[in-house]
Amino acid sequence: VEVGELEAASNVQPSGALRFKGGAVQIRHLSMSYGDLEVLKGIDLDIEKGTVTCIIGPSGSGKSTLLRCINRLVEPKRGDIQLDGESILSMKPESLRRRVGMVFQHFNLFPDHTALENVMLSLTKIKKMPRNEARRIAESRLAEVGLAGRKDHRPAGLSGGQQQRVAIARALAMDPEVILFDEVTSALDPELVKGVLDLMANLGRQGMTMAVVTHEMGFARRVADQVVFMDEGRVVEAGTPQQIFDSPQSERLKRFLAEVL
Ligand code: ADP
Ligand code: MG
Repeated sequence: VEVGELEAASNVQPSGALRFKGGAVQIRHLSMSYGDLEVLKGIDLDIEKGTVTCIIGPSGSGKSTLLRCINRLVEPKRGDIQLDGESILSMKPESLRRRVGMVFQHFNLFPDHTALENVMLSLTKIKKMPRNEARRIAESRLAEVGLAGRKDHRPAGLSGGQQQRVAIARALAMDPEVILFDEVTSALDPELVKGVLDLMANLGRQGMTMAVVTHEMGFARRVADQVVFMDEGRVVEAGTPQQIFDSPQSERLKRFLAEVL
């Protein structure tokens, strides 16, 4: 029996050993353009194994594009990204996406499938797992995000917060080393935000490597090991939450914080 299942059954945090293996991500001189528009201009960034990195910055600064490069939903123009020392550019996108999960602002669930089927699909399609085994894992992950009782509902029958937790269960089911979160609470009604953020904080505590693009500055301050401020396709500042929020160095970050805090 896996630790994850025990935990799901008892809903108790495993003590001692971290549950997730968590991979390290190294980004070097990364550039990316849409046509003539250069949106990432030489990004260098390390995400340590088992840590939470929150990425903040104004709209259009390239935050989503950076996450998309890590998952190869878009291809970089220059530079490299390594996952545990191996360049992702030499991996097949399918094998990369087993190792790096992504959760989106608008959930991206299949509307005609139940919560359970949504979680099972990537296991049967991408991992080619038999349906019985996929069902067992999917049920366990849905229980873990608090949705055991809603597994047979379609997305339209779930709240936004529940839909987002299905999307997180789907990412977890692949047993990834890294999960990327792109503004996953931005589309939620305010009262549903906390449940999703608490779930994410919990994954972080259990050793998942996470890159989280967010406007939730309280979450970044509380949960992040590292906060990265991006503007105009560059990392302007990176540091601990204390460094970024309490002693910002650049005028751009000071201005940004004055607007959002
Ligand atoms: P952020 O997530 O920080 O708001 P994005 O990475 O979405 O920033 O966008 C960075 C820049 O790239 C913006 O100027 C945006 O308009 C542009 N952009 C994003 N996606 C596309 C696309 N598919 N085609 C062309 N331009 C895009
Ligand atoms: Mg974005």
